[in-house]
Amino acid sequence: MDFSDTAEEASFRAEVVAFLEAHATRKTGRITDPEAADDAYVARARAWQAKKAEAGFAGITWPKAWGGRGGTPMQQVIYGQEEAKFSLPRGVFEIGLGMCIPTVATYAAPEISAQHVGPALRGETIWCQLFSEPAAGSDVAGLRTRAERDGDDWIINGQKIWTSGAHFSDYGLLLTRTDPAVPKHAGLTMFFLDMKSPGVEVRRIKQISGTSNFNEVFFTDVRIPDAQRVGKIGGGWKVALTTLMHERLAIGTLAGPDFADVLELARTVEVNGVPAIRDAAVRDRLADWYVQSKGLEYTKFRTITALSRGQMPGPESSIYKIVSAQKLQEIAHFALDLMDSAGLVTDPEVAPMRAMFQQALLYSPGGRIAGGTDEILRNIIAERVLGLPGDIRVDREKPFNQLTAG
Ligand SMILES: Cc1cc2nc3c(=O)[nH]c(=O)nc-3n(C[C@H](O)[C@H](O)[C@H](O)COP(=O)(O)OP(=O)(O)OC[C@H]3O[C@@H](n4cnc5c(N)ncnc54)[C@H](O)[C@@H]3O)c2cc1C
Repeated sequence: MDFSDTAEEASFRAEVVAFLEAHATRKTGRITDPEAADDAYVARARAWQAKKAEAGFAGITWPKAWGGRGGTPMQQVIYGQEEAKFSLPRGVFEIGLGMCIPTVATYAAPEISAQHVGPALRGETIWCQLFSEPAAGSDVAGLRTRAERDGDDWIINGQKIWTSGAHFSDYGLLLTRTDPAVPKHAGLTMFFLDMKSPGVEVRRIKQISGTSNFNEVFFTDVRIPDAQRVGKIGGGWKVALTTLMHERLAIGTLAGPDFADVLELARTVEVNGVPAIRDAAVRDRLADWYVQSKGLEYTKFRTITALSRGQMPGPESSIYKIVSAQKLQEIAHFALDLMDSAGLVTDPEVAPMRAMFQQALLYSPGGRIAGGTDEILRNIIAERVLGLPGDIRVDREKPFNQLTAG
């Protein structure tokens, strides 16, 4: 592993820091208030995205032909490291710019991508990912939303669920079934659509945390021109794999309390009349999380070193997500136990450490599901890294409409 910047990386970092210092406010502590996906937050996110694009820091790794910088993945990592030190609206563009637009730009006709890439990069349009359905999540190829050809158009009927940001998105990348008479992976076709099209209904899902960041999306006779097809008819699975590959790279670091935060808490609360930090059982747990945090830090350095050498990150990104999502959830549970009845207080103005652990308790389960559940990531590691025998997949070859559950 190599921990230091090369001369070019150091010069790029200096350029990034100068831009951020000039236009944003540095965070003062470790605690960040949760993101509220309301109109004001989204407007701030759009304005910041426009500023980044103007300065050449949006789409760092994108080719210049797409309006990007044509930079390296390592430059993207450096930008991300520095931006994380500033108080900025985050998350609104991750799905669109991290996953949807690279897919559209790869597979849609050049004039269509030219029309959409620039506005998305400048924050003028927001995109969402319409893949998961009530009966198709891990097994997304089992989806049932139908697209039927009608002249130069397609008619869409069906339902998606867990669509992050659909309520403030302008466009959606939509995976549909166009041929139910062939095996499930072969009968899919990808489209994109205007989220304000007649027949699209977005219903917000109220989450346990009190926020509503994702949605159900219903399609009733929604008409999409064939020009908005992304890739070949029946080639949707190949297109979806491109999106999902970008998703694995986009989802890495889970925001939330870590070892340093639970250590700080253990210094301030008491167990049996003494500071919790002096309790042997507490110290034991802290030691575990310290080891895990360091393991993750070095795993990340391994990825960064690979990127710095122009290589693609390996399977460690799956390991990273499994360990960090589980650690986040365990830390949140443990912290609430330590706080005793104060753990019930969720108002950031009065709760210990601005209720960061209370909030994490409620959102951390999602981290173990989004972007691949623990079990699916373990399957990937087992099959593709360790070379263990594959999962049993009895429905791969049968026509979709002959599957008993279909
Ligand atoms: C915060 C969040 C944001 C999301 N945003 C989006 C979004 O923007 N767009 C979108 O399309 N989707 C989104 N999703 C949905 C997400 O992709 C799915 O929830 C995920 O793929 C799991 O699918 P599922 O919920 O249907 O669970 P299922 O696939 O039904 O899984 C249920 C359980 O069975 C296990 N399981 C399933 N298959 C196997 C197997 N082969 N071997 C072993 N165990 C298995 C799973 O691990 C899980 O424990 C989001 C989810 C979350 C939590």
